[in-house]
Amino acid sequence: MAAKARVPDRTLGRLLLVSLLAAFSVATGAANANGVAVGVFAFQGERAAISDWSPVIEHLNRELPGHGFQLRNYDADGLREAIAAQKVDLVITNPGYYVTLETQFGLSRIATLQSPHAARSGQALGSVVLARAERAELVNVRDLAGRSIAAVAPEAFGGYLIAAREMLREGIDPESAVRETHFLGLPMTRIVDAVKNREVDAGIVRACLPEQMAREGLIRMEEFRVLSPRRVDGFDCALSSPLYPDWPIAVTRHFDPGLAKSVARVLLSMPEGQDRVSWSVPLDYQPVLDLYRDLRVGPYAYLRDITPEGLARRFWPWLLGLLAILAAWIVHTVRVEHLVHQRTRELNDSLAAREGAERRVRDNQERMEHLSRLSILGELSGRLAHEINQPLTSIDTYANSLLRRDAAGTLTPEALREACGEIASEAERASGVVRRIRHFARKRAAVREMVDVFRLVEDAQRMVAGMLVSCPEIVIAREAGLECRVLCDGLQIQQVLLNLIKNAIDAARGLSDDRQGIRVRLTRADNRLVVQVVDRGAGLDAAERERLFEPFFTTKPDGLGLGLPICRSIIEAHGGRLWAEANEDGVGMCFSFQLPCHESSA
Ligand code: ADP
Repeated sequence: MAAKARVPDRTLGRLLLVSLLAAFSVATGAANANGVAVGVFAFQGERAAISDWSPVIEHLNRELPGHGFQLRNYDADGLREAIAAQKVDLVITNPGYYVTLETQFGLSRIATLQSPHAARSGQALGSVVLARAERAELVNVRDLAGRSIAAVAPEAFGGYLIAAREMLREGIDPESAVRETHFLGLPMTRIVDAVKNREVDAGIVRACLPEQMAREGLIRMEEFRVLSPRRVDGFDCALSSPLYPDWPIAVTRHFDPGLAKSVARVLLSMPEGQDRVSWSVPLDYQPVLDLYRDLRVGPYAYLRDITPEGLARRFWPWLLGLLAILAAWIVHTVRVEHLVHQRTRELNDSLAAREGAERRVRDNQERMEHLSRLSILGELSGRLAHEINQPLTSIDTYANSLLRRDAAGTLTPEALREACGEIASEAERASGVVRRIRHFARKRAAVREMVDVFRLVEDAQRMVAGMLVSCPEIVIAREAGLECRVLCDGLQIQQVLLNLIKNAIDAARGLSDDRQGIRVRLTRADNRLVVQVVDRGAGLDAAERERLFEPFFTTKPDGLGLGLPICRSIIEAHGGRLWAEANEDGVGMCFSFQLPCHESSA
């Protein structure tokens, strides 16, 4: 496209050069069998390419004889394939296509075309956006939003992309903001005609084309207005964009560097002049790359795929898989959560049920123990009233005696003191009995505290003696120096002692005097305190001893048969053991229990 502008009169050239080209390939004598292939992007067709580029080939063959430079014309895809297949050594193409090929195949430019219209910077390619002169509302390229435009092709550098980037810079998306874009292809004059004939609101063409058409008498410049007009020093054509470097000539990777140097030198030495092809040192094509990146086309087309939609389009099978895994994971998590909640609820329910059952068992046990204590009291306190009556009678006797002496005037201070002392001691005796019974009979939950078991045995002895009229002798025997403090519930242990003592008394009831009498022994074995209640009563045979701790086993007409099972459960709850055996001489029974001595109790 750019070359066309520089070689306006190609009629003569074409005729001559087609024949010359054939001659070059044969006559110059190539360095190898195929010579040096110069691939050209023939965007305007083969004939135009031959016409435009043959002077270059001719110059090369003349200056570097023996290498056989040959012109090869390709369309865009053909040129790419030829480079890939290493069928070309040198490449001449437009800047846009060049940067793509450079990225793809590592081409290196060795010279840039020197346009006669180039600005002082050497740059020569730009776009001009034209509208009809009367369309005063179209001033800036951003005014194209919502309008219809004409351009060459989506990939045309000067004929679309350069102006498209300007629209982007002005804040409108050339692809979506414009109402419709008509890509009319080549020749580019079609676009100018479409604007002129009011088929579109505006048209994008390569800069300098309108001036060339005006020179050829095809249009008049006054018929048009230029959108976003700008001036660049030394560049005389109407312009709507900055300028970019012109077409480069580049060597492929496999090309001999020495020969590349020679080619560059020869090209730079081509004479300059109006309408003649000439070359300058290679210009910087970075602005072209920037343009492609901004528009996300060419080598940067992949950037379009970085949008959510693009990524979704590219990776949809993966995304689908991921979504499926995510959905499965969510379902699994929700299900596990649900199951955990359900199981936790069930567990809590069953724990609550278990706690409730345990609490009921505990309550029942406490009630049972209480009842058992009351029953022991019931049995032991048959003569309780009489027992308490004794001190009361003594008190009464002492008090009346005092009154009588007082009335008779024989009351001496000594007699008064003595009587009052006796009264006080008898009252204390009665209240002691009542206090112990009340303490024993009260209902409360189990506790653990350091208790001196020896004291408990003494209390039990006192209690029994206090409640029974004819209480047999109870002898307490403690191992010398024995420490009897253990961690226990004192009241419960006392209940056990009273039960065992009561049974021992019952077992000897009605027997001769030598069978009466109970011994309570306290010893220690293996860090355990052992308490034994020994009687010389009726005893039990082996079969009865077997059933001794079964609930409701009793040989007494008014017995309940619950005392011993409760005693055993109390001792076992303390980590101890309760058992019974016949005495060695076969007379009476021995009931023993042991309790663990804890560190602090040693
Ligand atoms: P109860 O005293 O109400 O019968 P216990 O459980 O205390 O209930 O005792 C159960 C039975 O064990 C008694 O009926 C008695 O036959 C027997 N027994 C308990 N202690 C002795 C003992 N020291 N000598 C003989 N028999 C005993």
